[in-house]
Amino acid sequence: MPVSGLPPYDDTNIFARILRGEIPCKKVYEDDFALAFHDIAPQAPTHVLVIPKGPYCSFADFSACASDNEIGGFIRAVGVIAKDLGLEAPGYRLLANMGEHSGQEVPHFHVHLFAGRPLGRMIPG
Ligand code: 5GP
Repeated sequence: MPVSGLPPYDDTNIFARILRGEIPCKKVYEDDFALAFHDIAPQAPTHVLVIPKGPYCSFADFSACASDNEIGGFIRAVGVIAKDLGLEAPGYRLLANMGEHSGQEVPHFHVHLFAGRPLGRMIPG
């Protein structure tokens, strides 16, 4: 069931197409729960997107509707990706946009993983 008041999942979105292999990506990690690939327009030296395999529009949808197994598997995958990329010691930032005010562009839940330089203030401006 979609989250009340939010549109249903649209399986033509760009990340759904990447998951189906219809559009290429620069993959950095994949397991049963998550796919991670480089952002096409990186905003930091490392800018990786991590997406769940299931059809969830946003964090709101994922947190409400995904199973405990999917949520656990996804969060563990994010940690493994950051560790395997060697980002723990210098540090990194996770960000998930949700809905209109956040500027979320792609309606498939994703976490941005930024790293590679001091990242400055959390919310510029
Ligand atoms: P949002 O604003 O939805 O949180 O972030 C969407 C992100 O997806 C943006 O950073 C954008 O650069 C990235 N993006 C959009 N289209 C593609 C694509 O086709 N391939 C990849 N790798 N990233 C994309």
